[in-house]
Amino acid sequence: MEKKKKSLSFSESVNFMVDRALTVLDIDPGTSKSIKTCNSTIKVSFPVVINGSIEVFTGWRSVHSDHRLPSKGGIRYAPIVNQDEVEALAALMTYKCAIVDVPFGGSKGGLLIDPSKYSRDDLQKITRRFARELVRKGYLSPATNVPAPDMGTGEREMAWIADTYKHLHPEDINYLGCVTGKPVAHGGIRGRTEATGRGVVYAIREFFRNADDVKAAGLQPGLSDKRVVIQGLGNVGYYAAKLLDEEDNCKIIAIVERDGVLTNDRGIKIENVRCHINEHKTIKGFPDAQFSEDGASGLEIECDILIPAAMEAQITTDNANNIKTKLIVEAANGPVTFRADDILRQRGITILPDAYVNAGGVTVSYFEWVRNLSHIRFGRMERRHDEMRGAQMLKVIESMTGEKANDWMQAEIVRGADELDLVRSGLDDTMRNSYQQLKEVLDSHEEVKDFRTAAYVVAVQKLLRSYIDIGVY
Ligand code: GLU
Repeated sequence: MEKKKKSLSFSESVNFMVDRALTVLDIDPGTSKSIKTCNSTIKVSFPVVINGSIEVFTGWRSVHSDHRLPSKGGIRYAPIVNQDEVEALAALMTYKCAIVDVPFGGSKGGLLIDPSKYSRDDLQKITRRFARELVRKGYLSPATNVPAPDMGTGEREMAWIADTYKHLHPEDINYLGCVTGKPVAHGGIRGRTEATGRGVVYAIREFFRNADDVKAAGLQPGLSDKRVVIQGLGNVGYYAAKLLDEEDNCKIIAIVERDGVLTNDRGIKIENVRCHINEHKTIKGFPDAQFSEDGASGLEIECDILIPAAMEAQITTDNANNIKTKLIVEAANGPVTFRADDILRQRGITILPDAYVNAGGVTVSYFEWVRNLSHIRFGRMERRHDEMRGAQMLKVIESMTGEKANDWMQAEIVRGADELDLVRSGLDDTMRNSYQQLKEVLDSHEEVKDFRTAAYVVAVQKLLRSYIDIGVY
């Protein structure tokens, strides 16, 4: 039955999910349409000389919304990327920013390329040329449109983009804010690389702090010892799995990757797998787990928490009925299709949705952008002052109690927060606050029964506020 239906595009899938929230809020069709519609998309094709001959590359940048500027979102480099995908991802950025109160519109970019097939120098040429196209067409600047890393891109590409913009606009004193996710030595912020994965874990921790939600999902209290399956050990999946393994005492019982799946019921040490991948470029041959080439079967392993952290459309009508988990945490963008989401909800599986779960990346991007505009590292002015106050406080406590604090206490009380502490604190605060906003919607709207609809209700309410305040012109 299901299979006979024409499969939905990524954008349609996102829009149908948003429709549930629009129905709950009883929004009129015109406003609904204006919220869902992607404002503009450019497609650029440009030639680059590679090994003495010309190759033509094609890329897109979509601005889904610009009620707040800049519009924000990553640029992905992938051998399969198209306009619909970029527009769907840009839409997710709009909702994501609204959910976590990041004052940006939503945007996304994609370049059709398999980056593994090109040298570093070639990638630099291609990236700089792509960035030039974006600047010239008005799709890249600190004030209007600010890219970030995504699949297939990282701080290296962001540094090239920032440098290209600087050369085109040397008079722009805020040039570093034209892109986020840069290397720390070139205007980046500490904690950005780990931010999306860390944000995923902060979301999971907040979920487990809410005993009623844990119970409703059919899980035992406490994150410790939970059996976790993760798909994708890229930047997001790696940090999420590493923290769950090393700080939360979870058991990572399976890792699904492009080339297969690793399983071990006693738990897999993420750092060891990462070292193995760095050395061998594959998970195959990892000594402390069983390997199977049937990666897709990994998603169907019985577990407490399933974390798809790879790419969109991984849980579809084909496998939704075989998923055996209590909680799905969407670290990737759009890993569950609209129809699969319906099946999973009917089966009572709790889903923490992408637009909330993976918003840690753009949250810390926002901190980076603010840092770039203020031209000063967070904590630079106050750190030593805080330390001095801490030392004074300690002296007072010691003189009042007549006891000497041990070394550990001294260090903890005296220590002033550095940039990384502040970034993590801001990220944790954001993920906790946003979770509570979703909960308020779940508690106050009887017809909202799942976190995804709650997340979109939160987002749409905030977007609506903008429409009401600014108006349409
Ligand atoms: N590409 C990331 C995302 O999908 C980060 C976006 C950003 O930091 O602007 O959320």
